[in-house]
Amino acid sequence: MQAHSLSLSSLQAFQSLCHGAAVDGGWWNSLAWRDPDARKHFIAGKLALVHSEVSEALEAFRKDLMDDHLPERKGMEVEMADAVIRILDLAGALHLDVFGAAMEKIRYNATRADHLPANRALPGGKSI
Ligand SMILES: [Mg+2]
Repeated sequence: MQAHSLSLSSLQAFQSLCHGAAVDGGWWNSLAWRDPDARKHFIAGKLALVHSEVSEALEAFRKDLMDDHLPERKGMEVEMADAVIRILDLAGALHLDVFGAAMEKIRYNATRADHLPANRALPGGKSI
């Protein structure tokens, strides 16, 4: 694995940017967010919206579409960006350290036997 110069604080600042933009846009004004009984459903809805962006990315990929709003960019890349933005918005609201967890997960995955190319090629191995 290549060493990199990613700054965790810069990534966390990007997460704050994503959540702050959503707050400024009024996406967190719902009464459901403030109601302890309804909050879990509100959060579930936010996660479902991540799904929707991934589905949009799949459709853009299948049809080789350019994005409607940023026409110089591939639809797939813009929809993937939408998914990242939605993930980081929710993570910001819930004070989750997604980037710290991602870095730990990359390191952990590098130690997994079932992720080794030779093991993935075995019958029953992970082909995708
Ligand atoms: Mg989208």
